[in-house]
Amino acid sequence: MPGFLDTPIEYLKGVGPQRGELLRAELGIATFGDLLQHFPFRYVDRSRFHTVREVNEELPSVQLRGVVTDIKTLGEKQGKRLTAKLTDATGSIELVWFKGIKWLVGSLKNGQEYIVYGKPSEFKGRVNLAHPELELATTWEAGLDATLQPVYSTTEKATAKGLGSRAIGKLTHTLLLTPGLLIPENLSQDLVHWLGGLGREECYRQLHAPKDQHHLDLATRRLKFEELFFIQLQLLKQKLLVQQEVKGHVFGTVGTLFNAFYKEHMPFEPTGAQKRVVKEVRKDMGGGRQMNRLVQGDVGSGKTLVALLSMLIALDNGFQAALMAPTEILAQQHFATISRMLKDMPLEVRLLTGSTKAAERRSLLTALELGHIHILIGTHALLEDPVRFKDLGLVVIDEQHRFGVAQRARLWRKNEVPPHVLVMTATPIPRTLAMTLYGDLDVSVIDELPPGRKPVKTVHRYDSARNAVFAFLEEEIAKGRQVYIVYPLIEESTKGDPTTNPAKDLKDLTDGFEAISRRFPLPKYAVSIVHGRMDQATKDYEMARFKKGETNILVATTVIEVGVDVPNASVMVIENADRFGLSQLHQLRGRVGRGAEQSYCILMTGDKLGNDARTRLGTMVRTNDGFEIAEVDLRLRGPGDILGTQQSGLPTLHLADLVHDQDILQQARAAAQRVLDADPELRDPRNAAIAGELAERLKSQAVWGRIS
Ligand code: ADP
Ligand code: MG
Repeated sequence: MPGFLDTPIEYLKGVGPQRGELLRAELGIATFGDLLQHFPFRYVDRSRFHTVREVNEELPSVQLRGVVTDIKTLGEKQGKRLTAKLTDATGSIELVWFKGIKWLVGSLKNGQEYIVYGKPSEFKGRVNLAHPELELATTWEAGLDATLQPVYSTTEKATAKGLGSRAIGKLTHTLLLTPGLLIPENLSQDLVHWLGGLGREECYRQLHAPKDQHHLDLATRRLKFEELFFIQLQLLKQKLLVQQEVKGHVFGTVGTLFNAFYKEHMPFEPTGAQKRVVKEVRKDMGGGRQMNRLVQGDVGSGKTLVALLSMLIALDNGFQAALMAPTEILAQQHFATISRMLKDMPLEVRLLTGSTKAAERRSLLTALELGHIHILIGTHALLEDPVRFKDLGLVVIDEQHRFGVAQRARLWRKNEVPPHVLVMTATPIPRTLAMTLYGDLDVSVIDELPPGRKPVKTVHRYDSARNAVFAFLEEEIAKGRQVYIVYPLIEESTKGDPTTNPAKDLKDLTDGFEAISRRFPLPKYAVSIVHGRMDQATKDYEMARFKKGETNILVATTVIEVGVDVPNASVMVIENADRFGLSQLHQLRGRVGRGAEQSYCILMTGDKLGNDARTRLGTMVRTNDGFEIAEVDLRLRGPGDILGTQQSGLPTLHLADLVHDQDILQQARAAAQRVLDADPELRDPRNAAIAGELAERLKSQAVWGRIS
């Protein structure tokens, strides 16, 4: 139902085609609704004034009232500027502009009283206001009678063409005065009441022209809630639909394979957490509905065993299983581990990656379609069209964050009845993000490490302490342990990013390798090197040597970041550690501490460090808890960066923010769940407003259909 809010913006009084185009192009405002959703990003308290004497450059902003005199244009070209003096009862301060000079010269009135708002800055020992907002005191007094004045984001170009913050505020004001304006309520009366009683339209009014701080707070909270509520409602509704409508293979039996493995071949007793998660998976797969489960477990928590046991259940029921990993190295390692664990069982386990040779690939694909292969392990090569299973019952996806929603969807097409899906991640996703991104998945957490593990000790050392660090490595090697030394090297995937310098990184790595080889010389020591630019065969060879304990030190890039498992390695040295993100550092640290010995992580940096880098290193030294680290990471980088924008799949939010509004998100999720529990079809007349909004949203996003 195209309503009033869908009206093109040029039809608003005072806009017209030209400004309409400008609003569209510069600010993405195409309709009345868009304008209303272009919320102020801050408010100026018009009731609070500073005096000139109080102004100092520590203050974030000041509002002054005074007389403008001495308007002067100074300088030439780049240095050209306009200055003026503002005087109140306590003194004078300089105002200065470097842009928009021509317009100001024409409009600034000498000797008149103005209201000025801006950020104090210091220039040559004196405080001034650069580019202040200003308005004649007389117009200011005749303005909106709100004390909190909205400030809107805009662009330089829009401002130059008369669409600055003020002008946008005026348009919004006009729109809010339009007779017949109707912003329909979309929450139930219960929820409205619970959120403080302001209706939806009233909230929009309060955001654009707040009565006072209290009303502004209530309105902001309610609109943020609303934003998050509908996302959660959609996710939960989606989940409900999958549960009701998407059939799943029923894996009713846990049979000979599972039992034989459990009793005879399993190399260790599963931890309580592993057992619990396998039980949850079993229950999902036995219930007749498609399983969509996310398993979060910190590095080293033993997710592989959970994957394997789950796959055996699929096999016991006559189906095939697939395990998909994000990198070639990891796929190979899963293949090696799982083949080893299953070596005495009558099962065909195969590996398919980008580098599988054509002939082998052909025979593999045929065997797969005939059902001769029971478990197929591989990279995203598994998603390609020629890969057809006879009967795929379960897909395990390791390190989900590298597989986007769309890729998940492709798997579905591999069978009529979709396979069960188990997503495993060692990147603990902050709860709130997980809720928004995977709100449609069930979640299990492996919150227990295998017995006998000692937490990794982490220290930060400056490059100047390198000799001491090397001496320490020597001691550890003398005890028979192995060492990783990791360098930042930009792999192919980030090629073209101008802020990185792959050639220099590669040189650092090879220089480092040479220095280490000199310090730890043959024949007493052996050092391996592995990086993403090497050919596969050499990489495999070097990795294998290290795994077998034939080399003491592995110098590498982040190719070893995910999943690589060498229990005897007990020291992780990370060079230029300030250049790594927190989750990457945590992943890398997870490569050690896998055996029973005390392990160490040494973060090496130069002595110049930025604030964020300090926080990252400090966090690493303080805690081993992946979830805590993920929360810090979220605060430092924001959700988009954490997930990688392309595949983040995060919904657009106008007001709410997943870092600061976690409490509102929790409430929105709980409320959405309550609504659906009581009224799954949203047929209760009291939920009519909610149902209406949801229907509108689903209409515009039909493609979401079967994805998760
Ligand atoms: P993740 O994939 O969760 O990072 P892995 O599955 O690679 O962890 O397991 C880490 C290490 O712990 C491996 O060496 C594995 O053999 C070992 N392991 C897993 N589960 C157990 C267990 N229940 N008892 C002892 N060792 C275990
Ligand atoms: Mg793993």
